[in-house]
Amino acid sequence: MQAALLLNTSYEPLKVISWKKAVTLFFLGKVEIVEEYDHHIRSISIAIKAPAVVRLLGYTKRHKGTPPLSRANIFARDNFECQYCGTSLRANEATLDHVVPRSKRGVTSWTNIVTCCNKCNRKKGGRTPKEARMPLRKIPVKPAWLPVITFRFDGNVPLSWRYFLGIE
Ligand SMILES: [Zn+2]
Repeated sequence: MQAALLLNTSYEPLKVISWKKAVTLFFLGKVEIVEEYDHHIRSISIAIKAPAVVRLLGYTKRHKGTPPLSRANIFARDNFECQYCGTSLRANEATLDHVVPRSKRGVTSWTNIVTCCNKCNRKKGGRTPKEARMPLRKIPVKPAWLPVITFRFDGNVPLSWRYFLGIE
């Protein structure tokens, strides 16, 4: 069964949720259905079209301050690009690299962790960018907030999502 794209009140994509969650939110009055799939969901009491895109109604909390240091957030900050060679990566290809290696007292922080492809990660090994002669493409910064969540799909993006994700 297909998933649904959840939008915030201003139609910006927030995340992908299961269709069951989308239906639950709809029946709780928390979202409106913006786009539907062609097929119906049937249970004993209801028959509605499967929601493809749903939009939150009312006030949604905006995260303040620094977003949590997580794999997904680092990848999003770096736009899923290896910070050494610039290759565009899929989520399952991306790795994290400590710019100053942990073996050299490098810390786990926004400014010392970057998105890295497997090849560059192996090549760099336990060295600093200078030692490895692998300059960073940009200085890693601690974002105040992440304005856009980056979505990457290995399969096909449902047609009804494309407009909201800015995909042609
Ligand atoms: Zn690379």
